[in-house]
Amino acid sequence: MTQPVLIAGGGIGGLALALTLHQIGVPCRILEASREMKPLGVGINVQPNAVRELHDLGISNAELDRVGVQIREWALVGLNGKEVYAEPRGLEAGYHWPQYAAHRGDLHMLLYAKVRERLGAEAVQLGAKVVGYTTLGKGVSAQMSSGATVSGKLLIGADGIHSAVRAQMHPSQPPIHWGGAIMWRGTVRAKPLRTGASFVGLGTHRHRMVIYPISAPDETGQSVINWIAEVTVDTNAGWPQDSWFREIAVDDFVHHFNAFRYDWLDVPAMLAKADCAYENPMIDRDPVESWVDGPVALMGDAAHAMYPTGSNGASQAIIDARVLGAKMLQHGVTSDALSAYDAALCAPVSDLVLRNRSAGPFGLLNLLNERCGGVFEHIEDVIPEQERRDFMARYKAAAGFAINTLNSADPTIQPGASV
Ligand SMILES: Cc1cc2nc3c(=O)[nH]c(=O)nc-3n(C[C@H](O)[C@H](O)[C@H](O)COP(=O)(O)OP(=O)(O)OC[C@H]3O[C@@H](n4cnc5c(N)ncnc54)[C@H](O)[C@@H]3O)c2cc1C
Repeated sequence: MTQPVLIAGGGIGGLALALTLHQIGVPCRILEASREMKPLGVGINVQPNAVRELHDLGISNAELDRVGVQIREWALVGLNGKEVYAEPRGLEAGYHWPQYAAHRGDLHMLLYAKVRERLGAEAVQLGAKVVGYTTLGKGVSAQMSSGATVSGKLLIGADGIHSAVRAQMHPSQPPIHWGGAIMWRGTVRAKPLRTGASFVGLGTHRHRMVIYPISAPDETGQSVINWIAEVTVDTNAGWPQDSWFREIAVDDFVHHFNAFRYDWLDVPAMLAKADCAYENPMIDRDPVESWVDGPVALMGDAAHAMYPTGSNGASQAIIDARVLGAKMLQHGVTSDALSAYDAALCAPVSDLVLRNRSAGPFGLLNLLNERCGGVFEHIEDVIPEQERRDFMARYKAAAGFAINTLNSADPTIQPGASV
């Protein structure tokens, strides 16, 4: 019997890879540490380059519309409430594919349902924590926390930012990197801002709110709104909490945002009605020189955990899955396929990690701060429109969703292709 490809981790990346391998006829087995799949998390973005891949996996807009909303605009607003930059997004911008803002848990559950439907319920083994691996003559063996081993042809570490596969591959990697930004995030039912489907960044580069809807409006005009409240503190010490993600009361942080009151939005009033609030530091990992060790590769957050400033962590995990599939079509289910994937993505995506660390598309707010301390009457006098557009165009090109390039690109995997 053909040895399966083992996938450590059944998050968005691992499940997108399972669907891709199934599509091209490669058997796989997902080893997921959680004992139960639950719709965890809050808002997440799926950029047009990743929506294209979901369509090619046979997941339709109608299905995505049930877990999220098509974003029509991306806007930055200064602390004074005045617009710094706005541009259309998704179909509105002329992409052939929409951009989605979704509930992370609902998107995850949609992919999980697809995997169970197409590969069978037994393809995902729950309560299966991978703690290491051994490379064998013609394959790899995953070591499980239970003491058991599982053999496969290849092992893909899709086990997130705390990846055990990465820890073994790069034993001297530095600890998780925290640059001083603290995020409080949650959801609230409220009227969406601006176009009704706008992603809005509001404030300064060190003190801001990010607000966007993750559901279509109901009959009262209200949507589920994802909000992120963020403050950067000066620190040389590490993150002071034991946990990376904990539930918190809005009263514990809302005072940072008392000045965020405008005639179109009252942030403290909005936060007071929040359904839930979580605290987590903005963290990433220093890039490594390679994501591959023979028959073992990293993907998604295990490969390139990044600040969420560019809204492309989930999108890049989906792209990784598709490029892995494409390379297996070229090189077979072999270490060579993994090396080709590494050669294609490791360097540019590592650059993206560092670009997001230095503010990503929110860098326009850094520029604003440098030039006028965030105080302005007419944005045109501080950062002319062409400069703002060029800045955003450079970001989109680096993140793989420059409109013309994407619209004219061949599919990553041709329909009907099989290994
Ligand atoms: C619970 C949770 C909530 C999140 N909420 C948000 C959010 O609200 N907004 C946002 O932008 N991003 C969120 N993220 C991160 C986001 O999902 C990822 O950045 C992105 O989707 C890339 O996904 P990934 O599959 O690479 O990693 P992840 O989504 O982190 O998935 C990794 C998977 O691997 C499993 N796993 C971990 N260690 C092992 C192991 N040793 N063996 C086997 N399995 C293992 C985990 O249980 C998880 O299912 C969340 C991630 C998690 C795990």
